[in-house]
Amino acid sequence: MNQYESFLEQAESKVFLDEQRNEGALLEKQTQNNLKNTSTIFSNLELARTRASAIRKKTIENLEKYLIEFESEFSKKGGKIIWASSEKEVGAELVKIVSKRNIKSVYLKESPLVKEVNIEHSLNKEKITIFGHEPFSMSVSEAKFIVADTGSIVTIGNDEKEQRILQQASTQVFLASLDRVLPQTNDIDLFSTLYSSYAFGTASQAYTNIINGPKQANESQGPQEVFLFLIDNGRTELLAQPEQRQALACISCGACSNVCPVFQLVGSKTYDAVYSGPIGSVVMPYLSTEEDYKHLSYASTLCGKCKDVCPVKIDIPRMLQFNRRDYVEKGNASKKENISIYFWKTAMLKRSAMEKGQKVKNFMLKQFFRKDWGNRRDFPEAVSKSFNQQWKERKGLK
Ligand code: SF4
Repeated sequence: MNQYESFLEQAESKVFLDEQRNEGALLEKQTQNNLKNTSTIFSNLELARTRASAIRKKTIENLEKYLIEFESEFSKKGGKIIWASSEKEVGAELVKIVSKRNIKSVYLKESPLVKEVNIEHSLNKEKITIFGHEPFSMSVSEAKFIVADTGSIVTIGNDEKEQRILQQASTQVFLASLDRVLPQTNDIDLFSTLYSSYAFGTASQAYTNIINGPKQANESQGPQEVFLFLIDNGRTELLAQPEQRQALACISCGACSNVCPVFQLVGSKTYDAVYSGPIGSVVMPYLSTEEDYKHLSYASTLCGKCKDVCPVKIDIPRMLQFNRRDYVEKGNASKKENISIYFWKTAMLKRSAMEKGQKVKNFMLKQFFRKDWGNRRDFPEAVSKSFNQQWKERKGLK
């Protein structure tokens, strides 16, 4: 069974379950509460969102410049940067770091990017023990942002124990996808507050760390070594799409998923993807994975709730439409879809065809949509007279 068939099967099994619907309603409620809190955290939320959107847009349009600036500043402070284009490269370089230092166990903090590049698999292959709750000489975790003008790494978290473990590790390894760069230190305040409020309904998280490289000669504390993996894994392909590249502006607050009616009804597991929900549906088809996620562009009603809620104003529905266009242009649409569109277009362009009898219309509808409609909903029937015919009759034009 391929990813698409599996998505349909999973969705079909979940969408009518009461538990799933209750879970969806709860997500909606939580997000609405978060949004209520957010509007009290910012004196002018709309202005903050507009500013954040403009900064992210400018950053994504000039990504190369900011990444080079970050690399230069980060390296000056003694940080070591590793550019990795794929999961394989991340794995190979990470194993080199571990082997060179003869490290036998590491603290690994779970996160989407850690999962995306399958760090656990790379470490397991080398028989490195992964611990989640003990202090170790090496830690691996995801950076929330990286800052170009100071070459800093920003992490945001809420767990005291985890904070302690991360700070004690003498070799600290961070992962960041290419899009995580912010131009200036001043931007941290805006973006960490937006993230915290949209994701959790609070102005900040308990621990926001700014890591400026390894311990300097005049400092008493700090890691001996700091590595940063800058990970592409398909993002430059997304960056090359002028209409969809703004999806990289995402700050992963999760709000768009929580308000999405499709996500609420099918649940995150159904997507079987590291990034699920509306923004995941835009991004996943571009990420380098062995799976094919093009079908996710269709897992949306295009209702626009995701766009309305997004703190950085990403126009997700429009990007999904562009993804669908690209999908069709690359010849991926099924024969059935192509034929149904052909008939629909022919009928829409010809008045006489549009006014064909009810029986013909019902026959065509059943031919093309009966299976996809499923058995649990009443299949719609065409009315006996077209809108045009009814209009003329009412106006006495016939
Ligand atoms: S796209 Fe979704 S997850 Fe990303 S910032 Fe916007 S609302 Fe948050």
